[in-house]
Amino acid sequence: MIPRAVLFDCDGVLADSEMVVNALVADQLTALGWPMTAVQSRETFLGLALPDMVPRIEARVGPLPPGWAEDISHLIALEMTERTPAMPGAAEAVRRVAGAGIPVAVASNSARAELMAKMRSLGLATVFAERVFSFEDVERPKPYPDIYLAAAAACGAAPQDCVVIEDSVPGVRAGIAAGCRVLGFARETPRDVLAAHGAEPFDEMAKLDKLLGL
Ligand SMILES: [Mg+2]
Repeated sequence: MIPRAVLFDCDGVLADSEMVVNALVADQLTALGWPMTAVQSRETFLGLALPDMVPRIEARVGPLPPGWAEDISHLIALEMTERTPAMPGAAEAVRRVAGAGIPVAVASNSARAELMAKMRSLGLATVFAERVFSFEDVERPKPYPDIYLAAAAACGAAPQDCVVIEDSVPGVRAGIAAGCRVLGFARETPRDVLAAHGAEPFDEMAKLDKLLGL
């Protein structure tokens, strides 16, 4: 069945940004006394929004300096404005879906400024237009369904008629909780882990059209 809307996660789906972001986070945490590599940062925080990372970090290093989350979010936005690494084939896949007349939205646990910077850098700002949703736009970040419910509504589609494209466990859980069909891009997270949380795993953006019935 052809979906009424397709809702894309950003990091690890549209943007191959996880390692850029995690290198920044790892540097910061190492400086705060929690020595960490970019790979360890990815394993520790994959799919979490900054506000959900803060208590985990404070449990380890003690209270963070005031404004720490805002500062690192600003650093990430700057880095992403400079260069957001594109996920191979992803922007093309978004354009094919939109070209088929299906509304598209992006729904991310990134901060809004950071997310907008990534969309501009990837050349997708005009494709998604106003259908760009950050955790700052809703009450609760993923794994709660709020961001996907907002994105579906903006597309004028019922959640059960939408397909979500996700790469992380919190993201898959958010899409399933919203009542959407979830395709799990198995790149950072193994296929069986994504499937265990209710996603249909796939591993190449080129296969997306067929999975969506286009
Ligand atoms: Mg992701």
